[in-house]
Amino acid sequence: THVFINFIFSILFFGSLDLRSHSKETSIRPDAWKTVFPQCGGRSQSPVNIVTKKSVKDERLTPLQYDGYQEASEVLLKNNGHTVQLDLPPGIVISGGQLAANYKALQLHLHWGKDGSPGSEHTIDGEQFPMEMHIVHIKENYNSLSQAAEDPSGIAVLGFFFEESASENKKYSSLVDALKRIVRPSSNATLPGISLEMLIPPQSSLEKYFRYDGSLTTPGCAEAVIWTLFESTIPLSGSQLSAFWQLQFPEGEEMVQNYRPVQPLNSRRVLYSKGSAVLVSWLSLSYF
Ligand SMILES: [Zn+2]
Repeated sequence: THVFINFIFSILFFGSLDLRSHSKETSIRPDAWKTVFPQCGGRSQSPVNIVTKKSVKDERLTPLQYDGYQEASEVLLKNNGHTVQLDLPPGIVISGGQLAANYKALQLHLHWGKDGSPGSEHTIDGEQFPMEMHIVHIKENYNSLSQAAEDPSGIAVLGFFFEESASENKKYSSLVDALKRIVRPSSNATLPGISLEMLIPPQSSLEKYFRYDGSLTTPGCAEAVIWTLFESTIPLSGSQLSAFWQLQFPEGEEMVQNYRPVQPLNSRRVLYSKGSAVLVSWLSLSYF
């Protein structure tokens, strides 16, 4: 969730610094974000490592409703200097699954690693995945992410992990092919006929997910995000994953490792939706 960077930095630093995870001394590293943005040192930060045996099963976490996810439309893909971002058209709304309201989608973006090393933000039992996609939604009555960030449950992000597959994922072909047109920051490309349904696992496999309260993973790290992280992964071939490394940061270096390291869970609990094989085995163990 990188949207704040440009906004806040253009105000505070006139764009003279950037916030990449790994870069020159002139930029602020994630562990120093809190010196400039106090919220980044808060008690409910994201991402986190999810310890599955400590997650709490919650039967109320039923499948979400996905309105507009099936609609194919022309979307704008851009290199925003920090990640690949897809701006989403109006009318895409999620609800249900114990979300506090209806949330409308604004954009999606991704976090990845380098040279085959993993780059997801969240980890599961210590495992980091090759890449993670965030679909960013805000409560329907808000007009912007910054407005939603004032509300502790103003933002709902759906997170999806990727796994490397032997074969290409044809549903990602047009997006991956377009990456070579947005190598430079601030460049963009129009993708015709993209729906969110094409980019995520089949709805029938989305009933298993983790839920916790956290933050944006870029400054100002507002603790305003209801996180939903799905167990079902998205397959991409090795060459599809490596296509993301050709993008460039503003100084022309390769755009890699654009993820924030995991943050302390502190007193928070991670909830798990129904249908957990992991938790069944944990419960049966606890009886002995
Ligand atoms: Zn993100």
